[in-house]
Amino acid sequence: MNIIVCPKCEKRVQNDYGYCTNCGTKIKVINDKVFLTLILIIISVISVTPLIIKYGFKEPKKLTRLEAEDYVERLIRKELLIKIDAVTNKAHVSLMVWSLFSKNQKEEISRNLSVYCSYKKGFDHKFISILDTKTNRVLATYDIKGKFKNFKY
Ligand SMILES: [Zn+2]
Repeated sequence: MNIIVCPKCEKRVQNDYGYCTNCGTKIKVINDKVFLTLILIIISVISVTPLIIKYGFKEPKKLTRLEAEDYVERLIRKELLIKIDAVTNKAHVSLMVWSLFSKNQKEEISRNLSVYCSYKKGFDHKFISILDTKTNRVLATYDIKGKFKNFKY
């Protein structure tokens, strides 16, 4: 039960009814639980947001040259990657295996392969085209601005 002072008659009244039990003036009902919940939500948003900005949207760690080479070997062993040409920045993949990956995984694969090409060339611009090895159709691209495009096939 909340006791408040009525703004009009200044009597101490309950605020559970929405009006003053003495003079009938409308009084906003403030529910303690709703109020506390709101405060908690605001506090958690304020405290969590910087963490999300710091860790959630952080650029993924760039592979070292050795890691990139190891990564390419692993993709070949997994029979996803058929061949990769660092001169033309083209990676030929098995469409069947490629289609098993989610969009986010495809983006990560493309980014890592673009890193591999940039190491091979000694050239900092990272980009790649992912092609279906059978049809030569472009399945995805990762451009020098870091924008990933996944094409329907
Ligand atoms: Zn009143």
